[in-house]
Order: sequence, then C-alpha cells, then structure tokens
Amino acid sequence: MASPLDIESRTREIGLQIFDRVNKQKKGFFHGDIDARIMDWAMKDEDLKVQLFRFVDVLPMLNTPEEVVKHLQEYLKNFPVIGQWGINLAAGIGIAGKVVGATVKKQTEGMARRFITGSNVKEASDVIERLRKQNMAFTMDILGEVTVSEAEGEIYQKQYLELIEGMTEQAKRWKDVPLLDTAAGRPIPKVNLSIKLSALYSQFEPADPEGTAAAVKERLRPVLLLAKEKGAFVCIDMEHYAIKDATFKIFREIMMEPELRDWQDCGIVIQSYLKDSEEDTRELIQWVKERGTPIQVRLVKGAYWDYETVIARQRHWPIPVYTEKHETDANFERLASLLLDNYPQIELAIASHNIRSIAYVMAQTEARGLPQGALEYQMLYGMGDPLKQAVIEQGQRLRIYAPFGELIPGMAYLVRRLLENTANESFLRQGFAEGVSADELLRSPIEVSKTAKPIHTFEQDKLAFPNVPERNFSLAEHQEKMKASLAKVRSELGAYYPLIIDGKEIKTEKEIKSINPARPSEVVGRTASASQKEAQMAIDAAKKAFSAWRDMPPEKRAEYFFKAANLLEQERADIGHTSSQHDEIGMDGYDDVADADREVLGRADNGLFDRLVARRGGFGHDLGGHARVISLDHVVHPWGLADEHEAHAFRRDGRAARQGLHTSPVATATQGAIWLDDEVAQFTGRAQRPQAQFAINGDSSTDPRAQGEESHRFGRLPMAKGQFAQGGRAHVVEEIYRAPYLWGEEIAHGHVAPLARQVGQKEGGAIGQICQ
Ligand SMILES: Cc1cc2nc3c(=O)[nH]c(=O)nc-3n(C[C@H](O)[C@H](O)[C@H](O)COP(=O)(O)OP(=O)(O)OC[C@H]3O[C@@H](n4cnc5c(N)ncnc54)[C@H](O)[C@@H]3O)c2cc1C
Repeated sequence: MASPLDIESRTREIGLQIFDRVNKQKKGFFHGDIDARIMDWAMKDEDLKVQLFRFVDVLPMLNTPEEVVKHLQEYLKNFPVIGQWGINLAAGIGIAGKVVGATVKKQTEGMARRFITGSNVKEASDVIERLRKQNMAFTMDILGEVTVSEAEGEIYQKQYLELIEGMTEQAKRWKDVPLLDTAAGRPIPKVNLSIKLSALYSQFEPADPEGTAAAVKERLRPVLLLAKEKGAFVCIDMEHYAIKDATFKIFREIMMEPELRDWQDCGIVIQSYLKDSEEDTRELIQWVKERGTPIQVRLVKGAYWDYETVIARQRHWPIPVYTEKHETDANFERLASLLLDNYPQIELAIASHNIRSIAYVMAQTEARGLPQGALEYQMLYGMGDPLKQAVIEQGQRLRIYAPFGELIPGMAYLVRRLLENTANESFLRQGFAEGVSADELLRSPIEVSKTAKPIHTFEQDKLAFPNVPERNFSLAEHQEKMKASLAKVRSELGAYYPLIIDGKEIKTEKEIKSINPARPSEVVGRTASASQKEAQMAIDAAKKAFSAWRDMPPEKRAEYFFKAANLLEQERADIGHTSSQHDEIGMDGYDDVADADREVLGRADNGLFDRLVARRGGFGHDLGGHARVISLDHVVHPWGLADEHEAHAFRRDGRAARQGLHTSPVATATQGAIWLDDEVAQFTGRAQRPQAQFAINGDSSTDPRAQGEESHRFGRLPMAKGQFAQGGRAHVVEEIYRAPYLWGEEIAHGHVAPLARQVGQKEGGAIGQICQ
C-alpha cells in the first residue's frame, strides 16, 4: 500500500495533468455569455445573488410579461448592474416593459434548460444518445422533490415505469461502448436512473419511519422490479438530512426482499458534508456484507448545505453538516478510501467537479491496483464540460447526471446549482472564476485545515437565553423516547387528578372527564371539579400567600419557575403525548408529535383531515369544537385566547410559529385544557412554589363572576394584552403560573417590564405577580 506521502505526490501529478487537459480546451465552465455574466454578478454581490435566486424561484409562476417586469422591479430595483443586461427596470408595463418581461423569462428559462436535458422523455433521450456518442454514460432523473399530493406521487412512479420501459427498449439500438457498458469486465446496464424517494409519497414523514417506509416501498417496489427485469440500474438519491435515515432504512429493507436481494444494479448516495456520514458508511458496508450482493455507492459532498445550516440554526438543533469546507473535503477523501477498501462489495461512484477530490481518488485507486472500470466518475449535465473531457481522457468511465422535466421543479434544481456554483468556497468558483492557482487548489484538505481560520462560527447563535429546542423527530433517538413515553402515558390514561389548594390535594365528588376527541371512548384523565366552596378556599389561600410572594425578590421567584421548567423538560415527551393524544392535531412544529403519536396508536379517523387543516394553517373553529391544546412548551389557557381573532394575533407575533402554540376554542375550554393545566400545576407544585395563586378546575358555576363577584376574574392570566383592558374592570389576576413558560424568554431579555407596567396600570395590584 502506498504511503500517504506517495498518495499526496501522485494526487498532485494527476491533478496537474487534469488541469492541463482542462486548460487545453477553449471552452468555459458554464454555457453562454449571459450565464457567465449572471454567475459573475451573483458571485460579486451577495444581496444581488439572493434577490436573483428569489426571482428565478418565482419565475415559473409568472404567466405574463407584465408579471415578470413587476417582479423584476420589486426584486432587483436596487441593483443598477441589471441595466447592463439590457433591462430597463423603469420601463414600466408598456410595450418596452412587455418586451423586457418576455426576454427575461425566456433567458432565465434558457438558463434552466442548460442544466436540464429536456421537458419530456423524447428530448431527454436525444440528449443522452448524444452523450453516449461523446463517450459519456448517463443517469436520468425526473425532476421533482417533496411531492405534496398522492396524485403527484403516483404520476412520478408512472413516469419512472414508462421511462424504464421506453429507455430499455431504445437502448437495444445503442452500440456497445466498452468503456461505458462494462465495469471491470462485467457488463453494466446502459440505462441508469436516479430517484428521489420524497417525490414518490406525499406524506413522507421521518417521524413515522415505519408508516413512511411501508408506503414508499409500495410505490418503489414496482419500479425496482421492472428495472431488474428490463436490465436498468437505479440509484436512490440522497436529499435533506431530515429524511436521510428514512431513506437508508427504505433502501436497506427493500433491497433485502427476496426478489431484490440478488440484484446488483442498484445504489445509494453518501454525503460527506454530514457529520454522521462515516457511521452511515460503516453501517452500509456491514449491511452489504450481510446482503451478499454488491451495490454501488455514489459519494457526493452534499447539495443542501445552505438549507441544512439555516434549518438547524433556526430550530436550535445541532448543525448536522460540517461548517468548514476543508472538513467536508477531508471527509470525502476518508470515505472514498473506506469505500475503495470494500471493493468489490462496494463499487464507488465519485460525483464531484473538484479536481483535487477526483485526483485523490484516482491516486488511491491506482495504489490499490483496482481494475479499470472498478469505479466511475459522475458529473452534472450543463456544467464543467472541459473537466468531463479531461476525465474521459484519463481513461475513466464518466456518467452524466441528466435531469429532465417541467420548469417548475426545474427551477428548484437550477437554484441549487446556482447556489453551489456561486458559493464562496466552491471549487468551480475558485478555480474557474477567481483564478486561484492549481497548486493551491490541489492542496490536501488536511494541510489546509492546519492554517485555515474558521469562516463559519455562527457566533450570533449563542443567545444569552436559548429556548429549549423542539425535538427533532427525524432522529431515531427521539422517536424511541416518544414511543416509550407514549406507552407510559397510555398505561396511565384515565387517572384521577385532585385539585391542589394551598399545597394540598383535594378530591371532590364531582369530576371532569377529559375525553380524547379523536377517540371519544377514551378518557385521557379525570380531574376534580371544584365547587364555589373550593374556589373560595383557593382564593383565600392565594390571598394569604400573596404578600409573601409579592415581597419575594424576583430572582427568587424566577428560581421556582426555572425549576418547574426543568421538571417539565425532563418529562416533556409524556406531556407531549398527553397533549397529542388529547387532540390528534398537528400544527406548526407540533406536527411531528402528532405523527409519532399516530404511528404508534394507529391513524386516528380524523387524522388526515387534521393534517390538512394543519398544513393549510387552519385555526380555530374549523375543527368543530375539538380541543386544541397542542404545545409541548407552552400551555395557553383557553380563556387566555378567548377567540379566534386573538389566536391569530398570537400566531402572528411569531411565537406560535417558533414554538408551536396550543390553544382550544373557548367553548370546550374545560375539557380541552384543564387536564393539561393540572399537569403543569403539578410541575410547579413539585418545584415547591408557594401557593400564591389559585389554580382550580371547575365549570362555569365555579366562576366567582357567575355569582356576581365582579371584582374577581376566575382562573388564569389573560394572555392577550387586549384583555387586560377589558371593560375597564379591575380584575384580580391571581393565577399566573403559565406566564414564565410563555414569557421566560422575555423575562430573560427584560421585555416583560413594560408589559408588567402596562398591566399594573390597568389591573391595579397585579404587577407584582406579573413580574414572576
Ligand atoms: C452526478 C451527481 C449526483 C449527485 N447526487 C447528489 C445527491 O444525491 N445528493 C446530494 O446531496 N448531492 C448530490 N450531488 C450534488 C453534490 O453534492 C454537489 O454537486 C457537490 O456537493 C459539489 O461538490 P464538488 O465536489 O463538485 O465541489 P466543491 O466545490 O469541492 O464542494 C462544494 C460542496 O462542499 C460543501 N461545502 C461548501 N461549503 C462548505 C462549508 N463551509 N463547510 C462544509 N462543507 C461545505 C457542500 O457540500 C458543497 O456543495 C450530485 C452531484 C453529482 C455530480
């Protein structure tokens, strides 16, 4: 085996050879003058790039030149450079504007077309026949990802079935090209397809791996069986991180089925930008050994870097990708070596336009003495043609990723390509737009790491008060925890919860049953129902404790709530289950929980309806009186959100979007929320908080106001600010224990003080309590 030093010097030699071959060709890396110019602008100005890509993204939906011009003006008015494109943004919507709109649309579509082989099979197959004539194999991809309806999923499957039938028929006419059609002497399929699993099924849900796998396999199986029968190759593409584990699971399970276990013409993708990727690769290798039939692994760096970093940061999750480019590059080389060590069980495909990465793998392959064609190189259609030619000249098998399809999914693909090519650290940008020297570009990533300064530190993420993140239910660890807690919660269904007054548990004759609205025969829990007597006891206890509580320093009071918050956090999954069990409704971040719930409990009859409502962002009364208490993090009392209007206001302020807001229509308040409130009361009780407030369950007859006590507001702190002013009445707000959950962040940031002052003015003595 060659030493690392030998590998390095051979990598350099091969790399220089490839650069040489590339430079001898007179072609640019991107097609066309306009493409090159757009790339150039985008690279020079980050803001322009964002606006350009937004514009490209929206373009397929713009049906008239007028709409195009209007959007151009809106998106790009601050960028005079656009004028150089011959676009007069002040043109208005007159004749000149129409011409501009039509031209821009045509040119942008033309740009997309350069990355896409055609909009139908006929156009695509003309392109791939041409590619074969130029000694390039292909893999065809039907554009489309994240299908949103079952009809789309079925169409996607049908298209693949037709593609396999059609292309394998056509392939019979194609001349054999030994370089393309054999791998180390073994014949390999001429027709090669790449499939995105998320496009096959509209409910692809990582939180429900079993349900998702079953449904996806049902769609995928006929495609794979037909490919096997007709002699086509299928590679399963890898998409965003959230569905990575589910994708591996589906691949491994289906390829172990008796009809497919002996099928070699299949593959999957590993993304070296993922910190998990080495572990995934080792597991995959182990699995291939068990399976006993080789597969191909396409090694890529990963196309969703921006997306993954944004999503993880937004949700306060650990970032799943490396954040320094040299880390991804070094991992790419490590994984390539690991995979080459496992030839022939694994046949490697290197999908990269990075000459250093390619040369390194060539050097490693040589050092292992692997036969010609033992691995292949893959590149994308529409870019880097000189590099493609150079790799062919090195005597390697080259496969072109050839997407085809309609413009709308095509634009998402185009934007990904543009982002990739214009990124600061992209090899293509550095090598072919910024003219960084070959020597520099061929440096080992390990060497680079020794001197590189961190570029992406994400310092701004380190908040003084980080919110507890939502659980990431795409991870098996959280799915398991959720299942366990679901079993626990199930075993406790129907339990009795007494009132807690002055720190003591009090049982009452009357009780309130909390019913699971998705399964009305199921009693979630029973709570004591207070009478006037208990309500008075609670008020008296609260009054008695009030002065000590009022005089307690805010820091001390906050401690109780932080303690309670910690307890809540520890048992969060159980609470989540109780709530999802209660409602079976997913909304915003909570969707995941409801899904995990369904997965274990079986789909609730109204599940689909609920999901649709949730997807549409439906809120409030659409559910015909179903309770809607759906937060893991915050329980918002129904009286706090007395009507839909307020609920919307609450959502608008962004809190709900970030953390999942749970509320219930006021009509079902007692059934909807009380049980959960009790649950929370227990936690604050367990944190040994003084009972300076009353929290009590009961029906409307318990409300002191029903007895004419205008000065008391029974129950909880109104959450919507507007309510504080309600009718100018002096409300005594005794019960506020939810406030810290809701306002924990504001307390930390000092935002609560103005609110407290406002409440103080309106509510008399309430200020001391608000400061909790
Ligand atoms: C044939 C083919 C098939 C493909 N299939 C898939 C697929 O199934 N799934 C998929 O995700 N991608 C796929 N890709 C896309 C591939 O991941 C990108 O083309 C690739 O990431 C670009 O890498 P490169 O080696 O060509 O370029 P380089 O410029 O060397 O690498 C760019 C890549 O480095 C990574 N990167 C950039 N900045 C940073 C940073 N700051 N920290 C850490 N890493 C960083 C990103 O992954 C980025 O895309 C495929 C590509 C080809 C050619």
